Amino acid sequence: MPDLEAFRTETRAWLEANCPDEMRQPVRDEDDVYWGGRRAEFKSDAQKAWFEACLEKGYTVPAWPKEYGGAGLNPAEAKILRQEMSRIGARPPLSSFGIWMLGPALLHFGTDEQKEYFLNQIARGEIRWCQGYSEPGSGSDLVSLQTYGEDKGDHWVVNGQKIWTSYADKCDWIFCLVRTDKENKYQGITFMLFDMASEGASTKPIKLISGASPFCETFIDNVKVPKSYGEGIPAYVGEINRGWDVAKYLLGHEREMISGMGGGERTAAIGAAMSRRAGELDPVLRADLAMFDVDALAFTALGEKFLDEIKVGKAHPAQPNMMKYVGTELNKRRHELMMAAGGSTALEWDSEETRGGKHSRDWLRTKGNSIEGGTSEVMLNVISKRILDLPGA
Ligand SMILES: Cc1cc2nc3c(=O)[nH]c(=O)nc-3n(C[C@H](O)[C@H](O)[C@H](O)COP(=O)(O)OP(=O)(O)OC[C@H]3O[C@@H](n4cnc5c(N)ncnc54)[C@H](O)[C@@H]3O)c2cc1C
Repeated sequence: MPDLEAFRTETRAWLEANCPDEMRQPVRDEDDVYWGGRRAEFKSDAQKAWFEACLEKGYTVPAWPKEYGGAGLNPAEAKILRQEMSRIGARPPLSSFGIWMLGPALLHFGTDEQKEYFLNQIARGEIRWCQGYSEPGSGSDLVSLQTYGEDKGDHWVVNGQKIWTSYADKCDWIFCLVRTDKENKYQGITFMLFDMASEGASTKPIKLISGASPFCETFIDNVKVPKSYGEGIPAYVGEINRGWDVAKYLLGHEREMISGMGGGERTAAIGAAMSRRAGELDPVLRADLAMFDVDALAFTALGEKFLDEIKVGKAHPAQPNMMKYVGTELNKRRHELMMAAGGSTALEWDSEETRGGKHSRDWLRTKGNSIEGGTSEVMLNVISKRILDLPGA
């Protein structure tokens, strides 16, 4: 395909000219990731330059249409850009729940005005979004959620509590599932968008086993949510009381995004680097590392196959559940192996040498991978029912 080859050459040259060396290094700390938002600060000039270059080119959201801040790349071009970025180890210029989750839902269900209004802000990294799905009594059984929006004509008054809301304390807006009809379980939920600075919205960080506090309890006390933010810009996505359809669609994208962690660094290299006796790794551990690498390669190939199936409209709608299950279990295994390879040093928690126990904290953080975005058990239920068509599932 001569056009695609020309695109690859052009892309490679553009990346060479615009991606600073510092942005080609692996992400080491949380502030190496640029999340955008009202309170965003760039860690370095290189991070800023890389973000701005990508923004101008439409590469913060390369596959979105140009009118919404993207570059309008087709799937084949987007794949080439991903490959070329991965070849030089380029970091994503902007990470955001707006890009990974809300954006695809808006592209599918939003009005034209709503898309223009919100998607451009997401592409420019102006608003940082969080996801208000889970509640203290509703996780896997999400449809039982109780947060309630009372209809007051031109607005709702919303009351309830969300939990495990990632980065809620750092976010500007929330996409939030709110019950708007108590009589109708599935068709009584509205997918609302509102500002976290609204009166009555507050957050309280929850500490994780790793010592970090990446998520929060979110309290919604008499928050007034207008039904519209302007002509053609409803404060909800899809239809009132039909938010469950939007929620499920978004979950597919969330699961795809989370599954990406399965395709991380090759473990043999990491294991060797971590071990102080690299040449003398235990043969059983060495075999486990090799087996992991084979499985990680198979996972990457499976991901490529799925993307190709999506391109030709042949993807099974439950595939993201499969990718989520395999990707997160793989990432947990990767970190178990890194700890095993690192020996007692890897368990260290505080020293400068381990950059404040980075390896052990990262390892503990992976324990949540098979919970966030739907647990492994729930993924297996979906796979058995919708892909394998098992009896009784
Ligand atoms: C790191 C992290 C970040 C998160 N970020 C967000 C966020 O930003 N926004 C948000 O809304 N939520 C977020 N969550 C919450 C997450 O979506 C829920 O934790 C998850 O859906 C599970 O719900 P639960 O915690 O209520 O567990 P439960 O649903 O109570 O499950 C408890 C256990 O029972 C098992 N189980 C439940 N039902 C079944 C079944 N039918 N069959 C077999 N086993 C079952 C589960 O697998 C699990 O082991 C996050 C969670 C984590 C860990």
